[in-house]
Amino acid sequence: MNLIEEALTGHWGPKCSEYEEGCIVCDAWREYENLATYGETLKKSFTDVPKDTQFVAPISLTKVQKPTLSEWMAWLKQGEK
Ligand SMILES: [Zn+2]
Repeated sequence: MNLIEEALTGHWGPKCSEYEEGCIVCDAWREYENLATYGETLKKSFTDVPKDTQFVAPISLTKVQKPTLSEWMAWLKQGEK
């Protein structure tokens, strides 16, 4: 369990076994999972690049600054191609 998961568990409680509409615990965990997925994509934007003489991000890093949830969901889908 990482630090965020520990904090989530401490504050909201352990993740429910099944997602339930309107459950605040489920929503908190879902948000975290969205962010974790986003983090993976973000990590790849640094690692999935050829090590040439110049660093070129495959996805514009300016998008990383403050995307809205829907913006980065769309962005994640792009990255899945
Ligand atoms: Zn729940």
